[in-house]
Amino acid sequence: MSQTRRIIICGGGVIGAAIAYFLSRRGAKPVVVERHEVAGSASGKSGGFLALDWCRGSALDRLARRSFALHASLADELGNPWGYRRLDTFGGVAAESGGVRSRPGRPWLSERVTITGRLGSPETTALVEPRAFTTGLMRAAEVNGAELRRGIVVDLVRSPTGAARGVVLESGEIVEGDGVVIAMGPWSIVASRWLPLPAVYGFKGHSLVFRTGDAVPAEALFLEYEEASGEMLTPEIFARADGTVWACAVSSTASLPVDPADVTADEGAHARLEALCRAVSPAIAAAPIVARQACFRPVTEDGLPLIGAVPGLDGAWVATGHSVWGMLNAPATGEAMAELILDGTTSHVPLRHFSPGRLKAFAGLRNQSS
Ligand SMILES: Cc1cc2nc3c(=O)[nH]c(=O)nc-3n(C[C@H](O)[C@H](O)[C@H](O)COP(=O)(O)OP(=O)(O)OC[C@H]3O[C@@H](n4cnc5c(N)ncnc54)[C@H](O)[C@@H]3O)c2cc1C
Repeated sequence: MSQTRRIIICGGGVIGAAIAYFLSRRGAKPVVVERHEVAGSASGKSGGFLALDWCRGSALDRLARRSFALHASLADELGNPWGYRRLDTFGGVAAESGGVRSRPGRPWLSERVTITGRLGSPETTALVEPRAFTTGLMRAAEVNGAELRRGIVVDLVRSPTGAARGVVLESGEIVEGDGVVIAMGPWSIVASRWLPLPAVYGFKGHSLVFRTGDAVPAEALFLEYEEASGEMLTPEIFARADGTVWACAVSSTASLPVDPADVTADEGAHARLEALCRAVSPAIAAAPIVARQACFRPVTEDGLPLIGAVPGLDGAWVATGHSVWGMLNAPATGEAMAELILDGTTSHVPLRHFSPGRLKAFAGLRNQSS
C-alpha cells in the first residue's frame, strides 16, 4: 500500500496526535482536524500517570506494556519537552481528622497519611505532563509533514463506492483524503450519526495543579481518604518534573456538553479537592494553585477501547474509549493504527480485543441528525 496516503484524523487529543505522529513517521500525510484546541480536553488535563504492568490479567496488558516502552523511547527521540520521569508510587490511607504536622521521614505529607505499601518503582511507573506530551507529539508530526486544521467535523464524505474519503466541516468546507479516523474522545459518539460506531460515554473528573517547586519528591500517591462527613474519596497525587503537583479525587455523573470548550467544573468540586489536598500535605497547603480543571474521559460499554476498522465501511477507522489509561496507551495505539492503516495488520500489539465490531453500533443519535 502507498505510504503517502492522506489520512484525515478527527480530534486532536492524545490519541489523534499519536496516530498522526506514527503515520507521519511512516511517510503518510495525516491531517488532524480539531474543533477546540489540541490537548484542550482530557488529554491536556489528565494525570499523565503511566504504569508498566497495572493492566496485568486484562485485555489491555500488551497495549500497556508496549506503550510504557514507547513512552521512554519517545522521550529520548523527541527531547522530552513533556517532563517524562520515572518515579516511585505509594498507596496509603488518610482521614480529614488527625494531625497536621509533617510526617517524620516524608515531610511533604501530614501525619494524617499512613503509607500502606509501595505500588510501583521507577522501573514500573512514570509520569508525563499530558498537555506538553500531546502538543509535543502533534508538533513532531507536523515536522514530519502532518497538517493541523481547525474545524468542527459534522459529516463524512463517501466515494461513489461508499468508502470514507473525507469529512465535512461545519463551515461547509470539505477535507478530502484516502481515509478517516474518528478520535474525538467522548465526542466520538457524535460520529455514530455518520457511521456505524458503538456508543462512547464521557465520565467527568476534576483536578487541581499546585506549584510546589522542589518541596515534593518524584513520587505518586494513591490514597483512600475519609472526609469528616464519613464519605470516602480516592485521591491520586502526582509530583511532576516541572515543579507542580497534580491531584484529582472528585468525579461526577454530569453530562457531556456538545462543545468541548463548554466543559466547566461542578459546583464545590474544586473546593472539596483543595481541602483534601491541603489536609494531606503541608507542602501542598503552602503552594499556590495554578490550574483548576474539569474534563471527560471516554468510556465504552465494556470498558475496553475501540481501536480498529469501522465494520462495513472501507476507509474508516476509530480509536477512542481509552478511559483512565489514554495517556499511557496513546503511543501503542498510534503505532498500531498507523500499521493497520498502512499495512493492513499490526506487528506489536494484536487489536482483536479492541475491534469496534464486538459491540453493537449505537443508533441513538441518528434520528436527531438533520
Ligand atoms: C481526571 C482524569 C485523569 C486522568 N488521568 C490519567 C492518567 O493518569 N493516565 C492515563 O493514562 N490516562 C488518564 N486519563 C485518561 C486520559 O486523559 C484519556 O483517556 C485521554 O486523554 C483520551 O484522549 P482522546 O484523544 O481519546 O480524547 P480527548 O482528549 O477528549 O480529545 C478528543 C478531541 O476531539 C475534539 N473533537 C470533539 N469533537 C470534534 C469534532 N466534531 N470535530 C473535530 N474535533 C472534535 C475535542 O475538541 C478534543 O480535543 C485521565 C482522565 C481524566 C478525566
